Amino acid sequence: MTFRCQNYINGQWLDAITSDTLESRNPANTEELVATFPRSNSPDVNAAVAAARHAYQTWRQIPAPTRAEYIFKVGEILTQYKEELAQLISQEMGKPIAEARGDVQEGIDCAFYSAGEGRRLYGQTTPSEMPNKFAMTVRVPIGVCALITPWNFPVAIPCWKAMPALVCGNTVILKPAEDTPACATKLIEIFAAAGFPPGVVNLVHGVGEEVGKALVEHPDVDLVSFTGSSQTGAEVGGICGRSHKRVCLEMGGKNAQIVMEDADLELALEGAIWGAFGTTGQRCTATSRLILHRDIKEKFTQMLQSRASQLRLGAAIDPNTEIGPIINHRQLQQVRQYIDIAREEGAKVVMGGDIAREGELGKGYFFLPTILDGVTPGMRVAQEEIFGPVVAVMEVNDFAEAIAIINNTNYGLSSSIYTRDINRAFAAIRDIEAGITYINGPTIGAEVHLPFGGVKRTGNGHREAGSTALDIFTEWKTVYVDFSGSLQRAQIDNRS
Ligand code: NAP
Repeated sequence: MTFRCQNYINGQWLDAITSDTLESRNPANTEELVATFPRSNSPDVNAAVAAARHAYQTWRQIPAPTRAEYIFKVGEILTQYKEELAQLISQEMGKPIAEARGDVQEGIDCAFYSAGEGRRLYGQTTPSEMPNKFAMTVRVPIGVCALITPWNFPVAIPCWKAMPALVCGNTVILKPAEDTPACATKLIEIFAAAGFPPGVVNLVHGVGEEVGKALVEHPDVDLVSFTGSSQTGAEVGGICGRSHKRVCLEMGGKNAQIVMEDADLELALEGAIWGAFGTTGQRCTATSRLILHRDIKEKFTQMLQSRASQLRLGAAIDPNTEIGPIINHRQLQQVRQYIDIAREEGAKVVMGGDIAREGELGKGYFFLPTILDGVTPGMRVAQEEIFGPVVAVMEVNDFAEAIAIINNTNYGLSSSIYTRDINRAFAAIRDIEAGITYINGPTIGAEVHLPFGGVKRTGNGHREAGSTALDIFTEWKTVYVDFSGSLQRAQIDNRS
């Protein structure tokens, strides 16, 4: 059955004002139409922003513990619909069903974690330098937040943004990726079922260049929280910078796993397989480079090849599938092009390297798990995000070289090192330029109560998740209460 998605504006389900629609198809079988959704434009955005602006004045004054109860309710309903939503994610986005359940679980975890913040949202009290004067800080909401999200975590990422934003007293408008409109619609149905007042939560479907841009440029949007490619993020950030909007950017990665000569190789292998090929390499934290010490490089590459060749490609809904499809035709072609680039630059394709066309796989956008050997730091495949099941193997002579190479990229999201040497592990924690470092674990595996984000071109200094998400969605207000009954001049009257 085809899902008919609509926008959700001011508590009502609506088509685009023009009635134009677009389609979303199963990437494992493009003959299967999953959903139709509105091709919205500026007038739809204007209506959503007006609703969110109006609702904000009331919502921000509702006590935070009460606002949190709505989020708690979303968590309960999400739990009830976990399986249904996971099946939809697998069908529309293509990730294997176990991973799709994990995607929803992350949303559930985020709901309960964010709801807890409703009874914290801590500020600070601190002594004043003046007598009979009280000083404190409180968090205040920012206003109308536009949430622009990618397709690779169609439930978790919107939850990561919407839940803390709402607890903090903001109203939100979600613009989901064009590739996963049904997942977004189902998620917002769940928010709607939690009973938020009209206008507090809104959803506008459509094309990034149209709806996304209209939201970013809208003068009544106070904050843009964006997750996607560094290229789009730069555009979004530029517009927000020029119009003095708050903006949080979570962008691409070129993550690496280092394997030192003293590592537990079996453990490092499991990490590399999961990190490089989990979610078909379409995670912002995916292991895209493997930095191997020369003493174990040949052996480990062979182990990797042997294990990767057993991975089962298939439709995500099949519980035996380990690698699902690439999200769309454009992305499939991009991954394919990177293989040509790798060859031209002198890398060796030791496994995979092509579109998978056998049998049922030919109906979708499947790509063979791919290992590139002999990759050197200057190559494009060592520098650019590929976003597919492709891992570049790089050999190093020692720890110092491993650190130099892991840092030799414009990105800085996730990183990993496998070693039994505690000194090296701590040196790596200190020296790797990334927002996240795993010791003896793969580059993927974020938990919602810890900060998430990256350095360099991966981010603009914010961290989602954890209590740091509150810094995105609130402003600090500093409050002085003078109960002396007289004018007290700081830095002057308390000095002789
Ligand atoms: P994308 O093409 O940049 O799109 C992200 C979102 O932005 C989509 O909703 C897209 O809409 C919208 N958009 C496109 N052009 C826009 C514009 N001019 N103005 C406003 N919005 C616009 O990225 P993607 O391909 O969906 O996602 C993959 C990328 O996301 C990768 O680079 C990955 O590393 C990154 N990512 C980062 C994180 C993180 O936390 N750091 C997490 C997940 C993914 P349409 O879908 O309609 O184009």
